[in-house]
Amino acid sequence: MTKEEVKVLIIGSGPAGYTAAIYASRAGLNPVLYMGEQPGGQLTITNDVENYPGYPDGVNGPQMMIDFQQQAERFGTDVRTGLATSVDFSGYPHKVVIDDKHEITAESVIISTGASAKWLGLPSEQRLNGQGVSACAVCDGFFFRNMDVAVVGAGDTACEEATYLSKLCKKVYMLVRRNEMRASTIMQQRVLKAKNIEVLWNTETEEILGEHEVEAVRVINNQSGEVKEIPVQGFFVAIGHQPNTAIFKDYLKMDENGYIQTIPGTSRTNIEGVFAAGDAQDHVYRQAVTAAGTGCMAALDAERFLASKEVAVAE
Ligand code: NDP
Repeated sequence: MTKEEVKVLIIGSGPAGYTAAIYASRAGLNPVLYMGEQPGGQLTITNDVENYPGYPDGVNGPQMMIDFQQQAERFGTDVRTGLATSVDFSGYPHKVVIDDKHEITAESVIISTGASAKWLGLPSEQRLNGQGVSACAVCDGFFFRNMDVAVVGAGDTACEEATYLSKLCKKVYMLVRRNEMRASTIMQQRVLKAKNIEVLWNTETEEILGEHEVEAVRVINNQSGEVKEIPVQGFFVAIGHQPNTAIFKDYLKMDENGYIQTIPGTSRTNIEGVFAAGDAQDHVYRQAVTAAGTGCMAALDAERFLASKEVAVAE
């Protein structure tokens, strides 16, 4: 195991991680950032980002993340490929192992490992991802204005996505695999009240159809066995997200879904010197701009934490 000591270690390379890196490097903290499994994060699987302020003509998601990276590097962030595979937050300084072979001792750690959308696991879903298949209505719904779309899922996210899409799209089919929804009553009521949302109960997705873009979805009724094709141009998967926080679970307080809990109004976790930003600690907003905002908070919190340590040592 090789070893290294750093002042600020940032884990994850989405908007939260890179924003933390921009602030920490401009504060002279020489941050080291590991990009993780999906360099650039979830925005790299989106096409155009039109809701990030400052880009009046929109920006391509992968390009935006290259811009974020370059901005962080411009101020001296050491951006590296590698995945944090284990941590030890039992003592201080904190220990993080990268790729099972490089141990970093860090005075502060910023966790910005994000979350990953859960997918159905169909090959057509993967093939048409970004070509009509999406896991984010707020990001991509606009491209399906006045078109027909399907949303799969029956939790609060699916209801929220369907309601959002119903205001933009001509018709929204909601594909629910049981004869009831898991979502809260109020969210269900919104869906059931919307004139252009049709809920298809006991309905499972067999395949998303289309060569280069989504043209239809083939579904099966798991009670009657009836199979039918529904013409749609967009297919939104809303069956939940999984925060990428498993390696921290022995140390950090999390909610029942694995989202890291921060002290309200801060990025501080229950462990001193460990901060969390972005979707790893936010299942509500999940936007690039909110992730960037919390990344900024984490860098400022880390800077203050390190300054207070220095004062303590000097005294
Ligand atoms: P949930 O885990 O609550 O719901 C997932 C839904 O997807 C379930 O209805 C489930 O069906 C369905 N599903 C899972 N796998 C499949 C599959 N393979 N095929 C078809 N359907 C599938 O996730 P959410 O993202 O909706 O919510 C996560 C948490 O975030 C919840 O606590 C929720 O309350 C919260 N949230 C709150 C919001 C708010 O308050 N504004 C907005 C969004 C989320 P089944 O029911 O049959 O298991």
